[in-house]
Amino acid sequence: MTSNTRVVVIGAGLAGVRLARRLGELGTPTLLVGEEEHPPYNRVLLAEVLAGRYAPEVIGLPAPEGLLRARVTGIDRGARTVECADGTSIAYDTLVLATGSNPVLPPLRGLFTPDHQLPEGVHAFRTLDDCLGLAKAVRPGVRAVVIGGGLLGVSAARALAVRGAQVVLAQQAERLMERQLDPDASRLVLRHLTDLGVEVHTECRVRDVRCVAGAVRSVEMSDGYALDADLVVLACGVRPRTGLAEQAGLAVHKGILVDDALRTSDPHIHAVGDCVQHDGTVYGLAAPALEQADALAELLAVDPDARYSGTRSLTRLTLTGPGSPFDLAAFGETEARPGDDVVRLADATRGTYRKVVVRDDRLVGGVLVGELGTVGALARAWEGAEPLPSDGGPLLHLLTNDGGS
Ligand SMILES: Cc1cc2nc3c(=O)[nH]c(=O)nc-3n(C[C@H](O)[C@H](O)[C@H](O)COP(=O)(O)OP(=O)(O)OC[C@H]3O[C@@H](n4cnc5c(N)ncnc54)[C@H](O)[C@@H]3O)c2cc1C
Repeated sequence: MTSNTRVVVIGAGLAGVRLARRLGELGTPTLLVGEEEHPPYNRVLLAEVLAGRYAPEVIGLPAPEGLLRARVTGIDRGARTVECADGTSIAYDTLVLATGSNPVLPPLRGLFTPDHQLPEGVHAFRTLDDCLGLAKAVRPGVRAVVIGGGLLGVSAARALAVRGAQVVLAQQAERLMERQLDPDASRLVLRHLTDLGVEVHTECRVRDVRCVAGAVRSVEMSDGYALDADLVVLACGVRPRTGLAEQAGLAVHKGILVDDALRTSDPHIHAVGDCVQHDGTVYGLAAPALEQADALAELLAVDPDARYSGTRSLTRLTLTGPGSPFDLAAFGETEARPGDDVVRLADATRGTYRKVVVRDDRLVGGVLVGELGTVGALARAWEGAEPLPSDGGPLLHLLTNDGGS
């Protein structure tokens, strides 16, 4: 069977759904093809589902019209069709790849069963299915090991601890969320997790997953130390999902290469979201994915000269659970170079920390933990990249005045 639609979008995640909805609103017929069994949902909120705070329906995205559940297995660029796993083929005038990321599976001995599956009890943390699998297995007292101490690992550890699991987090780097946070802010995240009963091991490399009858029993560190485990969460980062693009012969480096028109090396194929590399950057974050989707909708339906010039994106994480929520935000460069000016306000009792880095009168980065009232004003000053007044007063004002968020 061959159907005919003008724009076909592959991937019903944050970027694909946003693009299809915008195009629909702008009167451009769009077919959105997504492989996941569940109606589209907001992946950013999966930890809240795992923590038991939200039911899965709560994180649903407003579904666009024209959603087809199918896995696309190939692109025939000559015929301008895509092939699906069920044997159907779909014709396109313009194709958009919004295929997202895959979790990175670390090179651990014993990670795969002989039939190349993850052992029982070992889960990635990317999809609603991963999350429901984990939620089903977690019970008070269950021993869980989270491998990876970035944003994903920290959210997973917190959610599992809130559900009563005994959680050990194994982080290879010397501190938590080292890509986004400076050492002081990392320490506050560490304290927050430890207060919840999470045992955090830094500079710790897991080497082995030990199983009995296909189910995980323990993990072993590179120093030979073994930790009993009923559950293991792999939170070792993500990698753009570029397989379809590569098979079709599109230019791919770390992600699918796109220009400012979000066009791949084939002028009939665009790409948006986590799968994309734009101007050297693979973002892997929600805000750029949504901005790219908006820019492409404008370009395809309104103004062919519309362009995307990159996103100055803030990383935000809210860890909710018992007690007050723990918020953090980080943007740009959070560690100063020689010659930079740094303003830092810390309150150990309240567990709050605010820091900004200024270079040549411009705000180049900052990190806020526990107290995010000023994040809006700071983000605007950073995004605008305007020179800051030189007496330092307004900067302190930006850090302390929460009226601008
Ligand atoms: C637990 C978790 C927490 C996160 N927290 C944050 C956060 O706090 N802040 C933040 O900015 N970002 C966060 N992220 C990252 C954010 O979710 C992603 O940046 C965002 O989802 C990217 O959107 P996307 O549409 O490009 O990809 P995705 O949302 O991954 O969607 C891609 C979709 O394409 C489908 N697909 C792929 N290939 C095919 C195919 N061949 N056929 C059919 N369908 C296909 C996939 O199944 C998937 O549904 C988090 C991610 C996770 C997993």
